[in-house]
Amino acid sequence: MKTGFFYDPIFLHHDTGDHPENAGRLRAILGRIQEDDLLSRLIEKSTRPATQQEVALIHDVEYLRIVEEAALSGQPFLNSPDCALSEQSYDAALNGAGAMVDAVLEVAEGKLDNAFVACRPPGHHAEHGAAMGFCFFNNIAIGAAWLTANMGYERVLIFDFDVHHGNGTQHAFESRDDILFASMHQDPLTCYPGTGFTGERGNGDGLGYTINLPMPPYATDADYMSLFRDQLLPRFREYDPQFILISAGFDAHRDDPLAQIALTQNGFDQMLTEIKTLALNHCQGRLVTILEGGYHYQRLAECVASHVALLQADPT
Ligand SMILES: [Zn+2]
Repeated sequence: MKTGFFYDPIFLHHDTGDHPENAGRLRAILGRIQEDDLLSRLIEKSTRPATQQEVALIHDVEYLRIVEEAALSGQPFLNSPDCALSEQSYDAALNGAGAMVDAVLEVAEGKLDNAFVACRPPGHHAEHGAAMGFCFFNNIAIGAAWLTANMGYERVLIFDFDVHHGNGTQHAFESRDDILFASMHQDPLTCYPGTGFTGERGNGDGLGYTINLPMPPYATDADYMSLFRDQLLPRFREYDPQFILISAGFDAHRDDPLAQIALTQNGFDQMLTEIKTLALNHCQGRLVTILEGGYHYQRLAECVASHVALLQADPT
C-alpha cells in the first residue's frame, strides 16, 4: 500500500534536555526503520508549519501566541516542567500539526492509502488554551477537525491507545457526534492525567460518542484484545467511519518506565491489524496514525517499525 511517512528534522530540535520526552525517542525510531530497510517501502514526506487558521480549529489564537513567546523568549517550560521548551519548540510543535493536516489531506484525496506521522512534541493532552503532559498543540484533534471542516466528513473515528487518557482530544469533541473518540488507557485512579473514567461518555449531541475503557495496571495483550473486540469493534462497525485516526502512544508497553500496563509489541500489532481491516471495510482504508507517547527507546522503536510495516503491507 502507499504509506506516507511524515517526518522532519525540526522534530529533533524541540530540545527538552533529560526530560523523558526527548529527541532520543525519534532517533531510536529512525534508526530502527533504517535498520529494517523500511524507508524504501514508504513514501517519505517532509513537513511544514500549520497555519494559524488550522491550529485555531482547536486552540485559542491567544494561546498560540503564548506558546510562541514562551519558546522564543527562552522560558524553560510552559505551565509546568512537564511541558519543557526550547527556542525551536514552537516551530517543532507547529510542524507536527502541519504534518497531520497534510497527512489527512493526502489520504482523503487518495494520493496515499494511509500514513504515519513521526513527530514530537506529542499532542493528545493539549487543551484549547493550555499545554499539558508534554503536549502543546493537539495534532490529532486538529487533523480530525480539519477533515470535518474541509472534506465534509460526518463520521471520523479517533482511537487512542496511548497509556494515558487523551483528555485534550476528548474535551475538543465531547459535545459532537461527527467525531467519535475512543480511548483505552491505564485506570485514571492510578495514572496521569486522572480523567477517562467509563462514565465520561460525552454530552449533548455528543452523548455516546466518547468511549473510555480504563484498564487496570498489569493488563495484558489478552485483556486488551478481549475488551477491544467485545466493546469497541462492534461500536466502531456500527458507527461506519469515513476516516480513522489513531493516537499511537506505545507507553502501554510492559517495559515502559512511565506506566504499569503490560502490553507487548504483539498487542499493539493486533490492535492495528483490526483497525486497518475496519478501515478497509468501511472507508477504503483511510487511516492516519500519529505518534504520541512511548518512553522506552528500544521498545518504542521496535513497536513503531512494526506498526509502520503493518500499515504498508498489502491486505491479505
Ligand atoms: Zn502517554
